[in-house]
Amino acid sequence: MVRSKECFKCKAVKPLEQFYKHSAMADGHLNKCIECTKSDAKQHREKNLDRIREYDRERAKTSSRIRHAIEVSKLEMAYDEIKDRKGRMIDGVFVKEADL
Ligand SMILES: [Zn+2]
Repeated sequence: MVRSKECFKCKAVKPLEQFYKHSAMADGHLNKCIECTKSDAKQHREKNLDRIREYDRERAKTSSRIRHAIEVSKLEMAYDEIKDRKGRMIDGVFVKEADL
């Protein structure tokens, strides 16, 4: 006799071979048939894919913000470096006071 059970998802009574084996279950099989498990996994993947895409978009936004911040801070650093510098422009070249 082929043992069968009802899938809690699609309510179809199917032979145990139509259920994935799962040691944690009382009868050693999931309560969800293979078909439902597969379609759930597919849906889960698609849902995750959306999340992954969204995450990538967010990350892209963040990294461009960070890149921009780095550019700005580089400029500020460069400005900080020269703003207190004493010297003179000689023939279009900045000559530090120490080198004059
Ligand atoms: Zn099912």
